[in-house]
Amino acid sequence: MQYDQNYDDEDESKAMDAAGSGRRFSDFDCPDCNANNPHDGFGDGDEIRCYYCGMEYRVEVTEEGRLKLREA
Ligand SMILES: [Zn+2]
Repeated sequence: MQYDQNYDDEDESKAMDAAGSGRRFSDFDCPDCNANNPHDGFGDGDEIRCYYCGMEYRVEVTEEGRLKLREA
């Protein structure tokens, strides 16, 4: 794997809109394989799939606008 970026969910620079739990994201790092997945926009309650390993995640966005992914 060549995706050896440090994993954290601090996506401030990539967020389309910083608005707490209403925040939308334009990409995510897969918790399972750590791949970065570009996305055309997702937010709290959406389901997303990693294009690399195929895992599906349900999106949670905290009140602080932090992204959390739970295995669907
Ligand atoms: Zn993955």
